[in-house]
Amino acid sequence: MSAETLDIEQVEADEAALIRLVGDFGRKSVAPRVREYDAAESLPRDLLAQMGDLGFFGGIVPVEWGGLGLDYLTFSRVIEAISRYDHCLGVLMSMPSALVGAGLLQFGDTAQKERWLRPLAEGRIFGAAGVTEPRSGSDVAGTDTHYRRDGDGFVLSGAKAWITNLDIASFYVTFATSDKSKGAHGISAFIIPADTPGVEVRPYKDKLGFRPLCTGELVFKDVRLGRDALLGEEGAGYAVAMTAVERGRLAVASRAVGLAQASLDASVSYAKDRVVFSRPIAEFQMVQKKISDMAVNIKAARLLTEDSARALQAGRRARTETSMAKMFASDIAQQAATEAVQIHGANGVSPEFPVARLYRDAKVFQIVEGANDIHRLLIARDLLGTSSRRAAR
Ligand SMILES: Cc1cc2nc3c(=O)[nH]c(=O)nc-3n(C[C@H](O)[C@H](O)[C@H](O)COP(=O)(O)OP(=O)(O)OC[C@H]3O[C@@H](n4cnc5c(N)ncnc54)[C@H](O)[C@@H]3O)c2cc1C
Repeated sequence: MSAETLDIEQVEADEAALIRLVGDFGRKSVAPRVREYDAAESLPRDLLAQMGDLGFFGGIVPVEWGGLGLDYLTFSRVIEAISRYDHCLGVLMSMPSALVGAGLLQFGDTAQKERWLRPLAEGRIFGAAGVTEPRSGSDVAGTDTHYRRDGDGFVLSGAKAWITNLDIASFYVTFATSDKSKGAHGISAFIIPADTPGVEVRPYKDKLGFRPLCTGELVFKDVRLGRDALLGEEGAGYAVAMTAVERGRLAVASRAVGLAQASLDASVSYAKDRVVFSRPIAEFQMVQKKISDMAVNIKAARLLTEDSARALQAGRRARTETSMAKMFASDIAQQAATEAVQIHGANGVSPEFPVARLYRDAKVFQIVEGANDIHRLLIARDLLGTSSRRAAR
């Protein structure tokens, strides 16, 4: 056996061990608590600290920047593994590699990576990404948040909506335009420390799903920023946003597969236990159909998700692949969670069983990281070679 083969075997063994470790953590430390903290609308800090100690936030961030240096396929499997127990923890685990960290890794300078990316990947701090605005989240190029130059720095004003991590973020990666008439070419990306004067957060309460995450409005009132706040070239912010959201789509797809798998696992277990008409409901063919449809759809979604991970690993932009994976996986997650509630009957709407939470969260998956209607549009646009008046995400 060659040294190269041994190396590959060692890497594969390490990856499998990590996926097992994350799954064991989910079963032992997350599953017993998720119902309680979902109801309380707050992620337990001690759980996040344990995850940081275990290196769970490192993802694809290279080892030299404090990460685990995973390939995208392993990253996707790790995110699925935690999401079988709570995909909201999958959000936090994916952010350093995707929505928050991807732009820093690709466009940040050494000082920015040292200050923000390293502690993010090591789980010592958290960040947030501010793309969506009160007016629209789909029309990224139409951002109303604006900035002007001020000496060597910038002054930024505007508002973002539906921004996650407002309770724990130490900084925000966000986007503003210098001139709206320039569309995508007028947008720049900024890193804003959370304690900068002029920054206000207004969390929303009582969301339908994703309840443990603190999501809300991020308001900028004449926020003064130094030159070091600019991420990437001035005017190149749209590329930073797309880098983040395309990796974010892989993470959402992986989380949706995890949630769908949790719906199937709960359904199989319940169907074997629940006795109606003197028989376990697992013996009824219509229940069996639901179970087999779920299993086939989940496998297809997982394959599509892994295909998009491989495309990113190959260094491709993978816009169509990540759109297909995000759209399909979130649609089948919503179907799986709906059928899981049906199989549980009245118990399906009780907080005593996990499927009610899965059902509420599954719907939200079809909206975040680009609404599925937008993904249908993007996929068709790539196939037909048409373009829109405006860039959408
Ligand atoms: C729990 C939660 C957490 C979130 N976290 C973040 C975050 O951390 N950072 C962030 O930036 N955003 C975040 N978002 C926002 C999310 O990314 C947006 O909701 C999403 O991109 C859709 O934008 P919108 O809600 O403004 O919908 P809109 O842009 O108002 O669109 C509404 C609907 O119109 C339809 N539509 C719009 N345009 C088209 C079109 N061209 N063709 C066909 N149909 C169309 C779609 O059905 C769409 O769902 C979060 C949202 C939620 C619910």
